Amino acid sequence: MEITDLSLRHSNRLVEDLISGRLNTADYFDYSITDDTVYEQRVKDLKNRTFAREELSSYLLRYHQKHFQDKEPVIRNIERLKDPESLVVVGGQQAGLLTGPLYTIHKIISILVLAEQQEAKLSVPVIPVFWVAGEDHDFAEVNHLHVSQNGVIKKKAVKTAMNEKIPVFYKNIDHEECWNFICSIFETFGETDYTMELMNSLKQTLSVSATYTEFFEHLTYEMFSDYGLVLINSSDPELRKMEAGFFQHLILKNEELSESLSAQQAFMKEAGYKPIIEADHTSANLFYHDSKGDRLLLKRTGDSVFSAEGQSFTEAELKQFAEQYPERLSNNVVTRPLMQEYLLPTLAFIAGPGEISYWAELKRVFDTAGFHMPPVVPRLNITIVERSIESDMREVSLTIDDLFSKGADKVREEWLAKMEPSQLTPEISQAKTEIERIHKNLRESAVSKDASLEPFLEKNAFFIQSQLDLLQSYVDKKIQQKHRAELDKFTRIAKSLQPNGGFQERTWNIYYYLNKYGPHFVHEIVKLRYSFNFHHKVVKI
Ligand code: ADP
Repeated sequence: MEITDLSLRHSNRLVEDLISGRLNTADYFDYSITDDTVYEQRVKDLKNRTFAREELSSYLLRYHQKHFQDKEPVIRNIERLKDPESLVVVGGQQAGLLTGPLYTIHKIISILVLAEQQEAKLSVPVIPVFWVAGEDHDFAEVNHLHVSQNGVIKKKAVKTAMNEKIPVFYKNIDHEECWNFICSIFETFGETDYTMELMNSLKQTLSVSATYTEFFEHLTYEMFSDYGLVLINSSDPELRKMEAGFFQHLILKNEELSESLSAQQAFMKEAGYKPIIEADHTSANLFYHDSKGDRLLLKRTGDSVFSAEGQSFTEAELKQFAEQYPERLSNNVVTRPLMQEYLLPTLAFIAGPGEISYWAELKRVFDTAGFHMPPVVPRLNITIVERSIESDMREVSLTIDDLFSKGADKVREEWLAKMEPSQLTPEISQAKTEIERIHKNLRESAVSKDASLEPFLEKNAFFIQSQLDLLQSYVDKKIQQKHRAELDKFTRIAKSLQPNGGFQERTWNIYYYLNKYGPHFVHEIVKLRYSFNFHHKVVKI
């Protein structure tokens, strides 16, 4: 495997401004990630904080031993959390099917790589932690995968009864449906020497997973436990017990936190950036889980009163509820980052582009909570170039820079224009314009003599133009036939590297590659030498 850097513009303006140094970073973040000493500064600042390390470590040990087979690197990392010097690199994602789109894998790789690099640099233990956002209840976002079937990219979803409000964490897997789903996905991949082993392993993992989140966690653990990746499931009721004290703080400071969010969002708008957190000023930014398991947003409905669909609490009652039943409260997009900061000695938070944007909205929220926002580091963006795709590109003289900067349709058109410089297209187009001009005169003259001719003449004009369109499509077809082989290459390249018009990591899933290249594929990708220089990584395999 070979890795090269590619400098690309980011479509998210705030991210583009951040990495190109145009953003006035201090307005949005507490640390400047382009500063060489950013991690040293963070280490210094964290020395003033205390964390419930013993409690965290023993909780994580219990969680891992309950759910997974012991893996020495993970157990060792959990132990190392007790060291007062130790730090974590953390990032999180929703629990997608079969680990979801490739960017989830890229985020985990980013966490592992940054943790390893900084441990060597700072000479303190730096532990990679992946935060599984199981309390997100939007199942529709995680219930599908994309595949290539009969030449087109299709979205395949697992069939299951939907109750929108039940968190994915609690959603029991219909094992038969899920297995059928996996089989239908693998069918599109085609059978290889690895298929049987992979599918057997998936079947086994599925059978020990009661919920979709568990299935995701098991698969992630199998792939990355050799590297010591520690998992935190944000919706585990046991974790909530550790969070009880901070929930009370969030309740106490609730209105102030909302005001800080609004102020920062207004500031961002003023600076020309679009906030993405939908903030209702009365939102308590906390969820209440009712006895049916539904997750309901709490709102401030009066002076020190919090309500969620008919259930009301005074501030004192809600604080007491948080103390007694922390597992029945959960965080939203605003308070989850704060909870993470409360629990973990975070050296860096690895974020996707959307997260970078919304964390920028939280600058003053962190201030109000009494925290520095940790360094927010963009995850690695990776594109995997299979050998067959690389040779397709070579044969049509296409570079990856051109593909990404111009887009698949444009490069294909340009190639065709170069191959067929004397295409008839301009002449046909000119003929259409001239004929229309002449026909228009004819129409006007005829209608001035007999107005009832107008509908006939309009149709007549349409038919004449259609004949030229027909000629154009006939000529196009001929050209396509002549260059069929090369145009097919463009189609394959686009499908592999720019599916659905976006980066591969947003559409494709790791199992396609595991099936084609073997289970070791993921380890080879992890072991490449990455540098966090904000450049897109092109990995040729
Ligand atoms: P073929 O596999 O016959 O080349 P396809 O149209 O199915 O034709 O796919 C074209 C290319 O797109 C493949 O060679 C592969 O590089 C990529 N591709 C197809 N399906 C997937 C997938 N599920 N995941 C990742 N890449 C894919």
